[in-house]
Amino acid sequence: MAKILTLGMLKPDAIASGKAGAIIAHIQNEGFSIRAARLTRLTPAQAGKFYEVHKDRPFYADLVAFMTSGPVLPMALEREDAVAHFRKVIGATDPAEAAPGTIRKLFAESKGKNAVHGSDSPENGVREVAFFFPESEIAGLWG
Ligand code: ADP
Ligand code: MG
Repeated sequence: MAKILTLGMLKPDAIASGKAGAIIAHIQNEGFSIRAARLTRLTPAQAGKFYEVHKDRPFYADLVAFMTSGPVLPMALEREDAVAHFRKVIGATDPAEAAPGTIRKLFAESKGKNAVHGSDSPENGVREVAFFFPESEIAGLWG
C-alpha cells in the first residue's frame, strides 16, 4: 500500500499541558514520519474555516474559542494507510470512550479538549494538509 499523508494537529490543551513531546513520540512510534510541522496560533476566522463542517453544531462556538485559546501544532504525517491508522491511534472523540493506549485516552481531558485532531478521510487529509502547509512546503510529498 502506498504511503499517504494525513493532517495531525496537537490542540491547545496538549501544548499547554507540556505533553507535546510525549504525544509526538507516540505518533512516531506508530510509524508516522513528520513531513511538515508548524507551531501557530489560529485566528477565529481560521479555526472557523477549518471546522466549517461543524458550523451548525451546538459545540461550534466553544470549539472555535478553544482552538484559538493557545498555540496548535499541525503536522503533515506520512505512513501507509495514514488516515485510518492515525484515527485508530488517536481514539474516540470523547476520551472516556477512547480505547486504552490511544492518545486521547492517555492525554485528553474531555470531549472538547481532546488533545489532538486527525483527518477523517483521505480527501480531507489532502484538504487539511493544504490548509496549513503551502504548496512550496509540501512539494513532492504527494509523489
Ligand atoms: P473528531 O475530532 O473525533 O473527528 P468531530 O469531528 O465530531 O470529532 O468533532 C470535532 C471536534 O469538535 C472534536 O475533536 C472536539 O474537540 C469537538 N467536539 C465534538 N463533539 C463535541 C461535543 N459534543 N462537545 C464538545 N466538543 C465537541
Ligand atoms: Mg472530525
